Amino acid sequence: MTAINNTGILFNLQGHTALVTGASSGIGHHLALTLAQAGARVVVAARRVDKLESLVGEIKQRGGQASAVALDVTSAASVTACFDAIEAQGLLADVVVSNAGVTVAKPALQQTEQDWDQVLDTNLKGCWLVNTEAARRLVHHKKPGSIINISSILGERVAGAVVGYSASKAGVTQFTKSLALEFARYGIRVNAVLPGYVVTDLNSEFLASDAGKKLESRIPFRRFCQMSDMDGPILLLASDAGRAMTGTSLAVDWGHLVSSL
Ligand code: NDP
Repeated sequence: MTAINNTGILFNLQGHTALVTGASSGIGHHLALTLAQAGARVVVAARRVDKLESLVGEIKQRGGQASAVALDVTSAASVTACFDAIEAQGLLADVVVSNAGVTVAKPALQQTEQDWDQVLDTNLKGCWLVNTEAARRLVHHKKPGSIINISSILGERVAGAVVGYSASKAGVTQFTKSLALEFARYGIRVNAVLPGYVVTDLNSEFLASDAGKKLESRIPFRRFCQMSDMDGPILLLASDAGRAMTGTSLAVDWGHLVSSL
């Protein structure tokens, strides 16, 4: 029987290297700190390298290990260069949190081709590029790994003014299952986390407004997610605790997805 007091070991990420894309702000920044605290050596990636460097400083100050790599997920060359840079440090990313994402909030009839391309190229193509390059490196080194895609409940339910975003996240949730099926033979797990509305610096003002309060009242638990609500699900999927989990879509949303409103 598994001893109850081994919980800490089960979720421990010591000896693992975790790549977090879109770590220069919001959820990615927070999850990089969480993974470092669980013992992973963290590689933080995004376009704004100055922000990444200050996060690296924060992680090191707390006793963790981290480095920053420039990354534009919309470019296959940049994704390859990011993984090359990780290998040049003598590391192999065996936990990958594909979190980089953008939203364009406009009514459908006002969305331009450029809006559509920006959202789909970042959220869907970018995530696919990161997933497949991560897997390519793991397969080459014959190592298992865990890929976690930050999708959204808006890939399953819809809201106004985010047509491209919803389509991109539906794609992420679905390709997560395809890759889980294909990568199982290599010992690579692929899962999606579907956050509900998560309070970050960028949206806190809106979520606290009257319109935000109305939205909150439609969530079964009557509350938005805090970034720390993501910690348990991410550590579960990243670590040995979730070793039998692949191809799942884990909603972290205080019940928003099951609400009838
Ligand atoms: P932020 O805008 O705070 O963070 C987005 C991150 O993505 C930034 O670090 C940004 O870095 C990075 N990014 C954007 N474009 C690119 C690119 N082309 N290449 C590399 N990195 C890029 O948003 P959140 O923290 O709120 O969102 C993070 C993820 O969580 C997204 O995928 C989002 O869809 C998802 N999500 C968020 C929810 C919320 O309520 N906040 C709810 C559900 C899902 P940089 O600009 O430096 O490149």
